Amino acid sequence: MTIENLPKLIRHWIGGESVESIIGGTFDVVDPVSNTVYAQAARGSVQDIDRAVAAAHAAFPAWAALSNRARAAILYRIAGAVEARHDQLASFETFDTGLPITQSRGQARRAAENFRYFADVIAALGEEAFRQGEDQFSYVVRTPVGVAGLITPWNTPFMLESWKLAPALASGCSLVLKPAEWTPLSASLWPEIFAEAGLPAGVANIVHGIGEEAGQALVEHPDVPLISFTGSTDTGRHIIRSSAQHLKTVSMELGGKSPAVVFADADLDAALDSVVFGVFSLNGERCTAGSRVLVERPIYDEFTRRLAERAANVRVGLPSDPSTEVGALVHVEHYQRVLNYVEIGSKEARLVAGGVRPEHLTEGNYLQPTVFADVPRDARIFQEEIFGPVVAVAPFDDESEAVELANATQFGLAAYIWTSDLKRGHRIAHAVASGMVWINSHNIRDLRTPFGGVKASGVGREGGAHSIDFYTESKIVHVALGEVHTPRFGAPS
Ligand code: NAD
Repeated sequence: MTIENLPKLIRHWIGGESVESIIGGTFDVVDPVSNTVYAQAARGSVQDIDRAVAAAHAAFPAWAALSNRARAAILYRIAGAVEARHDQLASFETFDTGLPITQSRGQARRAAENFRYFADVIAALGEEAFRQGEDQFSYVVRTPVGVAGLITPWNTPFMLESWKLAPALASGCSLVLKPAEWTPLSASLWPEIFAEAGLPAGVANIVHGIGEEAGQALVEHPDVPLISFTGSTDTGRHIIRSSAQHLKTVSMELGGKSPAVVFADADLDAALDSVVFGVFSLNGERCTAGSRVLVERPIYDEFTRRLAERAANVRVGLPSDPSTEVGALVHVEHYQRVLNYVEIGSKEARLVAGGVRPEHLTEGNYLQPTVFADVPRDARIFQEEIFGPVVAVAPFDDESEAVELANATQFGLAAYIWTSDLKRGHRIAHAVASGMVWINSHNIRDLRTPFGGVKASGVGREGGAHSIDFYTESKIVHVALGEVHTPRFGAPS
């Protein structure tokens, strides 16, 4: 695939300037179709993070002092500049991540929507006041936390970056973003977007690099009081430990192994469409993928057979081909990891679809969508996040077993419930340990709602007012309006 304007060197963006690393290092950037190096990216070190944090620190007071409406105006302009790059962003994202082009095309609109939404929120934001009779009045003052550290993963990278950039900027924080090292290409569009929108220099800075180097330096920096992280559970644990030294505010959006629970009374055609889309869209590299499908016994054989048939017919192909439904997995290392799970799964359960490279694709990180049936609950492919086009299917006999199986992993991000008995749907929604539940629907979000997980899937919530709470500190000011009756210790009686 040839695409226009592919940079040869992806630089940092610090203090409104495009810069290389202070000590000059770079790392290879590889495309997932040919697994060849197509660019270098600046390799951020402690010195680059220091420089970026200093720029963000210097820009913070003026940005924080702007009125909410003035910041919102810049966010609207960022949204416009994102949308204007719709085609370029889609082709960059597809080239770098292996996402099918039809699925990359939605990313610019969603990213722009994040900026518009948080601009709306901040423009409309009021502060709370509390009155205690006639005697005391208390009000809340919100102030931005300071320099925010944003660390993001390689799946839908641009959209997930926007999901943190927009509320941080809306709240009045300045920031340093460390994008994922496997997919830095689309982040190279932010500098021109920020400049075009008139974002003051130093408010948003980007340092590329390896997690253990640039990411770790950001987490450990004493002038970064807040870390918003999206990525794997193990890295999340490590970041919480590292940030404890400075008692940072953290938000952790981590891994998942979300159940899709299908009852016999469900609209089975709709459930099947949703289950197939839920686990195979975005190449299965989706934190909220319904990667465990639990099916009520009377329909188990038929549903599993139909799921296997659909998986076998999913069109795997070049990410740039508009007819492709599943493209190339992001990186050869990740591809090997997913293949390893397929091998493990073949010993643990019954392979009913996929499990192999499609014959027509002799190179690149391709896997035919894979379905394992009769998966026991202690199987690794039932318990561990695979993050690829692989699904584990298991039967259940009644509602209580469905809930028990749904909850039988360390994760708790999302759950999908399919039934025409709405009372049962709500009962299960309340009983499942997860941050988000969809009843008779797939992953359709409302930006006003909280996003996040429980157990090993995360700490805290972002989305809607939760994001503003996260990026600001609330201070309460108590004011006496009447007489204050204070016990008179030490006064003459
Ligand atoms: P990862 O944890 O390997 O990396 C995520 C980011 O953390 C990268 O930018 C990486 O460079 C950085 N990093 C790595 N080590 C670090 C360290 N020691 N200190 C600071 N930063 C460090 O995750 P990944 O493989 O890029 O992403 C896939 C994972 O992300 C999956 O587990 C997926 O479920 C999860 N995810 C979760 C959500 C959610 O909202 N819950 C959304 C998308 C992805």
